[in-house]
Amino acid sequence: MQPHEEHNPEPQQTEEPMLFCPVCSSRLTEIKCKLCCSKCGYYMSCADYI
Ligand SMILES: [Zn+2]
Repeated sequence: MQPHEEHNPEPQQTEEPMLFCPVCSSRLTEIKCKLCCSKCGYYMSCADYI
Protein backbone atom coordinates (compact mmCIF):
# COMPACT_ATOMS: atom_id res chain seq x y z
CA MET A 1 0.00 0.00 0.00
CA GLN A 2 1.19 3.41 -0.84
CA PRO A 3 -0.15 6.25 1.25
CA HIS A 4 1.08 8.74 -1.28
CA GLU A 5 -1.13 9.20 -4.26
CA GLU A 6 0.11 10.91 -7.32
CA HIS A 7 -2.19 13.80 -7.34
CA ASN A 8 -1.25 17.13 -8.70
CA PRO A 9 1.31 18.47 -6.31
CA GLU A 10 -0.28 21.61 -5.14
CA PRO A 11 2.28 24.28 -4.63
CA GLN A 12 1.76 25.58 -1.17
CA GLN A 13 2.80 29.06 -1.91
CA THR A 14 1.07 31.74 -0.02
CA GLU A 15 1.03 35.12 -1.57
CA GLU A 16 3.28 37.05 0.70
CA PRO A 17 3.85 40.74 0.41
CA MET A 18 7.51 39.89 0.15
CA LEU A 19 8.58 40.69 -3.33
CA PHE A 20 11.77 40.87 -5.22
CA CYS A 21 13.40 43.94 -6.56
CA PRO A 22 12.75 44.40 -10.28
CA VAL A 23 16.08 46.13 -10.55
CA CYS A 24 18.51 43.80 -8.83
CA SER A 25 16.30 40.83 -7.94
CA SER A 26 17.23 40.88 -4.31
CA ARG A 27 14.60 40.51 -1.68
CA LEU A 28 12.62 43.53 -0.71
CA THR A 29 12.30 44.39 2.93
CA GLU A 30 8.99 45.57 4.22
CA ILE A 31 9.32 48.77 6.12
CA LYS A 32 6.08 50.14 7.41
CA CYS A 33 4.02 50.49 4.28
CA LYS A 34 6.86 50.24 1.84
CA LEU A 35 8.92 47.56 0.28
CA CYS A 36 12.50 48.60 0.15
CA CYS A 37 15.47 47.08 -1.55
CA SER A 38 18.45 47.25 0.72
CA LYS A 39 20.75 46.59 -2.17
CA CYS A 40 19.98 49.26 -4.71
CA GLY A 41 17.61 51.47 -2.81
CA TYR A 42 14.59 50.72 -4.90
CA TYR A 43 11.29 50.89 -3.08
CA MET A 44 7.62 50.71 -3.74
CA SER A 45 4.71 51.67 -1.59
CA CYS A 46 2.15 49.14 -0.49
CA ALA A 47 -0.37 50.72 -2.80
CA ASP A 48 1.71 49.51 -5.69
CA TYR A 49 1.86 45.85 -4.87
CA ILE A 50 -1.54 45.19 -3.40
ZN1 LIG B 1 17.28 46.36 -5.80
